[in-house]
Amino acid sequence: MADSWWQALSDATDPPIPDESGRLLLRNLVIDLLAALDAEPFDATVGSRVGAELADARLGDDRVPTISARVLTDLVGHSISPDAAVRFTVLVTALGQGYQHREHALRAGCTDSAGHDAGRHRDARFRVLFDSPIVAVAFGDLDGNILDANPALADMIGTSVEELRGISVYDFAHPDDRAQISALLYEQLVPAREGSVTLRHRLLRTDGTVGRAGFVVTYIRGTGRQPDYLGAVGAEISEWYDLENDLHRQARHDPLTGLPNRRYLIEQITSMSTTNTSETDRIGICFADIDHFKDINDRYGHDTGDKVLTAVAAGLRELEREFDCFISRLGGDEFVALIAPPADTDRVGLIAHRLSSVVSIPITVNDHRLNVSVSIGAAVTPIAGVTAETLLRSADSSLHEAKARGRGQWIVHTHSTSSR
Ligand code: GH3
Ligand code: MG
Repeated sequence: MADSWWQALSDATDPPIPDESGRLLLRNLVIDLLAALDAEPFDATVGSRVGAELADARLGDDRVPTISARVLTDLVGHSISPDAAVRFTVLVTALGQGYQHREHALRAGCTDSAGHDAGRHRDARFRVLFDSPIVAVAFGDLDGNILDANPALADMIGTSVEELRGISVYDFAHPDDRAQISALLYEQLVPAREGSVTLRHRLLRTDGTVGRAGFVVTYIRGTGRQPDYLGAVGAEISEWYDLENDLHRQARHDPLTGLPNRRYLIEQITSMSTTNTSETDRIGICFADIDHFKDINDRYGHDTGDKVLTAVAAGLRELEREFDCFISRLGGDEFVALIAPPADTDRVGLIAHRLSSVVSIPITVNDHRLNVSVSIGAAVTPIAGVTAETLLRSADSSLHEAKARGRGQWIVHTHSTSSR
């Protein structure tokens, strides 16, 4: 990337330093920028520093930031940060500002007349943003009406810059996200009359499709009699959002059966206990463990064992639909049905019974007809004060009892206080 960057700068501006040192400098700057994209916390000043180093090296004229922004776009694909596109936008903006600032200072040091063309510098600074094909830029009044926008934002929405002028920012945000945008802008940014907020929201395109966008919105004080206004820089982050969703899903599901895993189950219990503050409601759990599952593996092979687990999971999905409970695979041959409050002993007993019969249907796997049974330990306990650990522990002790009584059975224990 450093080589392409050097090539692009050499083609356009004929830098006055040797190839070798130019490439080396750009290589170091690429490394710094990539590290900044992934760093926690994010530090936008790296962009300004890189801009200043480019100006110090006198790599060319005013076009250096624009050309650099275009070449460096590829960095987004090399970053592991889910916010890479937004971070890149901020870095490249800072790079343009750092470059112009430094160049201005260098000129001021050389000639008395430096600074006479501040307007030209300012224009060049904004041109870096406006010319970028991936950085969306908009300026709006304090009511959220767009005063000006660049072609990248228009492309992102599927319209023209002319159409964007005068419309409200809410027109291209998803209706369900508008309250959150409004809260950030009108309860945080506008009352503070300074600073920035970051928005991540769904984007309504004119063709009816929905994407994801991230924007950093900054409060800008008007000069003279000019009113204050808002400036937004952002980018489409749909791909990153999808990737983040995939990772989130993978981390909470078991790859063999596709069922929610232990982590997801624990999150469900925690969320139920924090959102339900009732003193009387109870939560239910059925903890099922296949009987003598090791024998199936030993006799027919691990592959057959896997298919049995998948068939059991399919049966449990029916149960999920029938009783609206939450089914998960805890690991190995252990499955759990979680019954949200308000649960009672009758309902949990009925679910345990159905679970047992769903699994007991003979399963044909790799030409073997197998009869599978499960032992189930169930518990019904007040939701108040329950934790995933205490709930699983009480179900596990019922399960031990069911196994000890000869397997193929279910036992429900009802607690009047949540055991800790
Ligand atoms: P019990 O009646 O006491 O439950 O005996 P069991 O043979 O079912 O033994 P247990 O539940 O303690 O052990 C479950 C076994 O499941 C242990 C392990 O070899 C096997 N196992 C764990 N995960 C998998 C898997 O993903 N696929 C297969 N095929 N087997 C697994
Ligand atoms: Mg078992």
